[in-house]
Amino acid sequence: MLKLHQGSNGMYSVEMTLDLPARQNGSLITLQNLEKVYRTPAGDFPALKSINLRVARGEFVAVVGKSGSGKTTMINMLTGIDRPTGGSVIVDGVDIHALNESDMSKWRGRNLGVVFQFFQLLPTLTLVENVTLPMDLCSTYPLRERRARALHLLELVDIAENADKLPSEISGGQQQRAAIARALANDPPIIAADEPTGNLDWNTADAIIRLFQELVDQGKTILMVTHDNDLADRASRIVELADGEIIRS
Ligand code: ADP
Ligand code: MG
Repeated sequence: MLKLHQGSNGMYSVEMTLDLPARQNGSLITLQNLEKVYRTPAGDFPALKSINLRVARGEFVAVVGKSGSGKTTMINMLTGIDRPTGGSVIVDGVDIHALNESDMSKWRGRNLGVVFQFFQLLPTLTLVENVTLPMDLCSTYPLRERRARALHLLELVDIAENADKLPSEISGGQQQRAAIARALANDPPIIAADEPTGNLDWNTADAIIRLFQELVDQGKTILMVTHDNDLADRASRIVELADGEIIRS
């Protein structure tokens, strides 16, 4: 930023400052001194201890670490599913935990696709209805275009022929594909996935990773928690957590 100052002698001077927001120095996601302390009857438990991380647009980040190292906690801070007890999460210049719940849910609906280990499709809705739902919630596309877009996304993940089936009528791998189509419904720039292949056999997991790689090629930024080192090696970057701290990034 440039600032113009007029000195007491009437002369002007120019000051240049470098307090640029996160989006201007190349990172899409910035975790800044991020802390999460869970308060339990047994005492306070620090699950994240001052995490600092920058992720650039178009990165495919695998988040690895032992069970209990804080992977889910970190992802939940990014998705806004839970709030940190310290520090901040800045996404494309927005300090997301400064938003109230209502603004947070609007922000999340448009900017983030979330994929879970157990798919979490709504069991009473067909696949195409599950994929249409985020568009209905955010009014991102005109009503008459939503079903066609949902079908297009189901085609993209290769399960369009199951569009009118219920989740219980298809396999786990197909449900995860539908969940990924749902995550893409509002064309968010970021996908956050917590153990998305944790409940799938190797071949199906392999296909999901290939799908993620294609999405990254199309410009999406993906953070994926996994404890499978072979799958993690196929991301463009590995971030490793241990006891609530980043030990490799
Ligand atoms: P990971 O996903 O790497 O297995 P988590 O982020 O789920 O790890 O958990 C990190 C640590 O925080 C663990 O020790 C876990 O027991 C603890 N933890 C997670 N969620 C809660 C909670 N809601 N209340 C108390 N402790 C929690
Ligand atoms: Mg976890």
